[in-house]
Amino acid sequence: MPVAVYPGSFDPVTKGHVDIAERAAALFDKLIVAVYVSPPKRLMFSVEERVALLKEALSHLPNVRVEAFAGLTVDYAKKVKANVLVRGLRMSSDFEREFEMAQMNKRLAPDIELVCLMTRSGYEFVSSSLLKEICELGGCIDEFVPEDVAVAMKEKFSQNKR
Ligand code: ADP
Repeated sequence: MPVAVYPGSFDPVTKGHVDIAERAAALFDKLIVAVYVSPPKRLMFSVEERVALLKEALSHLPNVRVEAFAGLTVDYAKKVKANVLVRGLRMSSDFEREFEMAQMNKRLAPDIELVCLMTRSGYEFVSSSLLKEICELGGCIDEFVPEDVAVAMKEKFSQNKR
């Protein structure tokens, strides 16, 4: 039965990510939300914090597991016996990036399929990086992230100012 991996940085998890995870969990028997330990970008939250925030945000989904991983996504997928990778698409720039990665992943692991889910209307402009920028400048991000993520983000920025 199909097992899917939804990989990402999730720095931090947004309602856009939660929506994709909920929809993927309804499509597959088991969904593993896999958190890149060290993606090539500056991070706000440690891997432990990102995993903990995701576990809380997805606790209502019984067939979802959250785990950290390092190395190639396709190697991790093989390790956990997943045959599908799930990604979300917001805009055409996401498509270009996903298309490039999908072509490479297919060469590396021909048996693993990519399933891209379109963002839900209203979340197309929601990205972790934009929300961090808004929060840092004192804007309200509450409607776009789970409640404890909003608290954690505000706490991080106030720590950094001290
Ligand atoms: P990355 O994996 O590139 O570091 P993220 O961790 O932010 O990026 O996102 C993980 C996955 O979730 C990516 O496929 C991304 O396109 C998707 N995603 C992020 N935000 C949204 C959103 N608002 N709607 C749909 N998909 C999203």
